[in-house]
Amino acid sequence: MRYFDHNATSPLSTIARQAWLDAIERFPGNPSSPHRVGARADNALNDARQAAAQWLGCSPLDLVWTSGATEANNVVFHHAAQVAEAEAWLSAIEHPSAHAAARKYFGDRVQLIPATADGVTDLNWLADRLKAHRPALVAIMAANNETGVLQPWSEALALCREHGIPFACDAAQWIGKLPAAGLGECDLVMGCAHKFGGPQGVGFMKIPDGFRPLLVGGPQEDGHRAGTENVAGIHAMTAAWAERERQLADSEQELRQSWRDQFIADLGKALPEVEVLGNPVPRLWNTVAALMPASADCRRRWVVQLDKLGFAVSTGSACASGKEKPSHVLTAMGRHPREADRMLRFSAGWETSADDWRALLDAVRSAHDALSARVS
Ligand code: PLP
Repeated sequence: MRYFDHNATSPLSTIARQAWLDAIERFPGNPSSPHRVGARADNALNDARQAAAQWLGCSPLDLVWTSGATEANNVVFHHAAQVAEAEAWLSAIEHPSAHAAARKYFGDRVQLIPATADGVTDLNWLADRLKAHRPALVAIMAANNETGVLQPWSEALALCREHGIPFACDAAQWIGKLPAAGLGECDLVMGCAHKFGGPQGVGFMKIPDGFRPLLVGGPQEDGHRAGTENVAGIHAMTAAWAERERQLADSEQELRQSWRDQFIADLGKALPEVEVLGNPVPRLWNTVAALMPASADCRRRWVVQLDKLGFAVSTGSACASGKEKPSHVLTAMGRHPREADRMLRFSAGWETSADDWRALLDAVRSAHDALSARVS
């Protein structure tokens, strides 16, 4: 199977797998235990924390391990609602876990920051509104999971700094695909391992002073997150992350981006009706979000057809047909639900080759022929 769904989960990398196996052998104890076996596990966590802090550019003392970015998004809005009564402002294109957590903890005190037609969070809206209002928190993701469009998080951070407003950045899709440097300046940052070759069910967040934990119980993580840490998962996550930072330092993503861009160019020639979303603006080097020709009544059919041909691709979010809702990201970009229902997401990984992209193009062509024959 050729795998083009890395924005959903990037399979465990060889290095991460080895690190995980090493860790279960070397660090079998509970990091909170007072004996040497426990201390070894605790030291492994500290080493991992040190490394993550260095990549992000923050203090290791401000990092907390989590089960992933959904937990972290919940923690962010829980914390913000405890420390201030004002509104939460978050981008209309945030991950559903951020939207749901904001609604849960802020109720109707939630304002959505609009996005442009290209899928970029509207900074003008933010700058304008900040002149007259003081939200409890502004949350803008680093890169969108559906379109891959990069978001102006550092400019938003600067604006929030100017106005003394806490800024949270969901960097789940950025980390491991682009350098993490600078993200540690945000008041809160969230990430998860399984988007860059680490294991599922493990992630981290950077927390601010005066942090109010969501999970309470034991004294783990300095009282910031109760529950025994996933030592092997964390060790494997930082091993994968180290590999990605090295590849990024060597600019290895540039060649991969050129393969992706060639695919877009060839796709445009093969199927001129295809529209690549966010095409003129900077996007993750691995992602193509495309509105496909209306050769299928639901984009799920594309996924099934490509699956039969040996390609794993995604709709990016639930299908609009039947009971399912259209993508909130495409809706925020001003797309009609019928258009949104034509979206497919192809997301490559570090191991994806030029040949994989070429084969994908052929498969898309064949799928198009098969689906068109079905409809006509
Ligand atoms: N935030 C973004 C931007 C994501 O893409 C995802 C995963 O799809 C999440 C949060 C949720 O992450 P996790 O799977 O670690 O809960």
